[in-house]
Amino acid sequence: MNNFFRRLSLPVKLLSLILFPLALIIFLAFTVYREKSETADLLDGYVTRINRSADISALISSLQAERKYGYNYVLTRDAGMQPAIVRQRQVTDSVLDWLASQQDASLHQFTSYTFLDSLLPVREKIDAARTTPDIVMHYYTTAIYRLYTLNMAMAGNNKYPDPVFADLTAEKLLTGMITYLEILSTNFYNAIYARQNNVAMLYGLLGVYDIYKSYEKELLVKASPAVVRRYKALRDTTALKPVTAYIDQVFTRFSFDTLYDAGEWWQLSGDASRGIKVLQTDLMQQVKAAMSKAHTDELNDRDLTLLLIALALVVVFGIMVFCTHVITQMLSGINAAAREIAQGNTGVTLQNVSGDVIGSLSDSIRTIGESNRQLAHAADLIGKGHFDTPVQTRGNNDLLGNALLRMRNNLEQFTAAIEKSRQQFEEVADKAPVMIWVSGTDKLCTFFNKGWLDFTGRKPAQEAGNGWMQGVHPDDRAGCAATYTEAFDTREEFYMEYRLRRHDGQYRWIGDTGAPRYSPAGFFEGYIGSCTDIHEVKVLEQRRDDFIKMASHELKTPMTTIKGYVQLLRRMHDGGRDPFLADSLATIDRQVARLTRLIADLLDATRMETGKLPVHPEPLRLGHLAEVLVKDMRTLFTSHNIVLHVQADPLVLADKDRLTQVFSNLLDNAIKYSQPASDVVITLSADREKAMVTVQDSGIGIAPEYHAKVFERFYREPGGQESTFPGFGIGLFIVREIISLHRGNVWVRSEKGKGSVFHITLPLHRPD
Ligand code: ADP
Repeated sequence: MNNFFRRLSLPVKLLSLILFPLALIIFLAFTVYREKSETADLLDGYVTRINRSADISALISSLQAERKYGYNYVLTRDAGMQPAIVRQRQVTDSVLDWLASQQDASLHQFTSYTFLDSLLPVREKIDAARTTPDIVMHYYTTAIYRLYTLNMAMAGNNKYPDPVFADLTAEKLLTGMITYLEILSTNFYNAIYARQNNVAMLYGLLGVYDIYKSYEKELLVKASPAVVRRYKALRDTTALKPVTAYIDQVFTRFSFDTLYDAGEWWQLSGDASRGIKVLQTDLMQQVKAAMSKAHTDELNDRDLTLLLIALALVVVFGIMVFCTHVITQMLSGINAAAREIAQGNTGVTLQNVSGDVIGSLSDSIRTIGESNRQLAHAADLIGKGHFDTPVQTRGNNDLLGNALLRMRNNLEQFTAAIEKSRQQFEEVADKAPVMIWVSGTDKLCTFFNKGWLDFTGRKPAQEAGNGWMQGVHPDDRAGCAATYTEAFDTREEFYMEYRLRRHDGQYRWIGDTGAPRYSPAGFFEGYIGSCTDIHEVKVLEQRRDDFIKMASHELKTPMTTIKGYVQLLRRMHDGGRDPFLADSLATIDRQVARLTRLIADLLDATRMETGKLPVHPEPLRLGHLAEVLVKDMRTLFTSHNIVLHVQADPLVLADKDRLTQVFSNLLDNAIKYSQPASDVVITLSADREKAMVTVQDSGIGIAPEYHAKVFERFYREPGGQESTFPGFGIGLFIVREIISLHRGNVWVRSEKGKGSVFHITLPLHRPD
């Protein structure tokens, strides 16, 4: 449940807070509304019953009048009374019809048990004079009494609101009083009319009189003060006063006197009854009006309650939705600010901040943003080297602030240490006997040591960046820049030679070795280079090359002459009988050939240094070239068994003389560095792209560490074999250079004492 509630969105959470109270309010509101409705219904029922009660009272009143007329007519047979009787009966009938038409369960078939179903026969008997006044009196009185008891039951209980109940009770009591007063006055009329002092009748009426009196007493006790006042005024000032006084006197003396004749009594007692009736009718009207008003008030009250509840619900709901919206908006603002801070932004602003917990949260976020900004500013300054920047920590547990503080101190120490080591480096570099430069990751030079600056006689600012290039000889500048840039981009070490202007204006040859620099963490940081003045060596080399060139030239002519004579002599003694002479001439020829090759090699080696070796490529079959060469070599070197395997006869684009030079150098070495009578095997093969040549011997072999070195100029394997195997150490150098000019490769596979295999590859020539 807890988890479920947490997962709900904030507006739903807030709305659900009011959901249950709201449901409770709605429930209570409807309970109140229902009660109000029930009360209104109850009052509606009361109003109906009071209306019925009023109708019954009207019927009683009408029957009382009809009784009076009927009694009098039977007594007097006065035909002049008939119209009044008919009128009164019509009134009675109309009230009866009205009551019968009401769908009221309490009045269901009321005529059957209130004797009213005999009303028509009684009237007929009255009209036909087939009855007596007593019977008429009895019939009507019984019916009226029964209606009266029914009416009392209609009023029922005391749930009527005050003062309605008091007026209703008073109205019933007045109805009773009228009933009993009329019984008395009608009987009195009969007695006065008949002039009989009927004591038995008076005794019969004594109970009626007592009940009338008891009703009057009850009225004075239960009626409201206003009604009591009205009744007393009635009793003291109207016809009721002499009537009650006369009745009291008759029942005191138990005899009638002649104070009133029948007509007077009829008139006076009728007035008295009418006076009470007016009061009773007024009360009934009052009760009806009060009940109707109470009912209407209750209905209005109920509707007003409903309206107020609806209004309250709308207002409560509106307030809740508004509060939810405001809270959500405030929290959204805080959320957005927190997100900005999480993304590293500073200067966060929050508007309409309240003084409660949300406001305090906003304040905290603003404070975080502000302190982040301050810390970032401080970090920025520290980063720029302002180590005196104050760092305001936000408390002992401020991770960030304390970390920044530590960072500042560490950075200060590191910077000092770096500065110290930089100074040490510069000191060492300045004392070094070489010229040192340092560049950054942007290729621009940042440092030149004292040796460099002393050499060029320039200031560090002049040399910085690419300034040093100004001192490089214009002819070397492009090559120098290309070598540096190419090596820099591939992060490789490089060596280059160029002429650099010395402080005295002389250009001197410099050997410059550059190497990439890396931080301890392995990040590339630029280059460092050291330069030495190789001018003297360069000059000597030049002189040597010039000498070799000159010497080989000078030697070439006599060697050609010697070679020509030796070959002439060999031809002359071919098949001669002096084997010693023939052998000596062959040895001279061989050594002259080797010497010629050496001289040619020397000359070529110097040419290669200056890049002036001429190459004239032409389509060439390697098979034929090898066959011719092997034939010559076999003639010259009979000591070894030279074997040629032609597995393929590839076509290449090459300089015939240069390739012949390559193969003869390799064959010469194979013969030179292997035992006499051993095999020297030359193999030709090819694949789809290249021609392959191997020259294999089973001689002294080469240790793996010298496999690359043997191709360098003037390199000879150390180990005191120079005397055993004569040579200059340029044969393989020339091989490599010539093969490289033909875009081919050469390498050796060999082990010490296990012979050697030299491999050459050349690109195939495709004439199309
Ligand atoms: P060199 O005139 O000394 O032979 P090269 O350039 O031809 O000069 O060879 C360089 C060195 O390579 C030699 O001095 C030798 O030590 C080694 N070398 C060359 N060819 C062979 C070979 N076939 N067997 C063993 N060592 C060889």
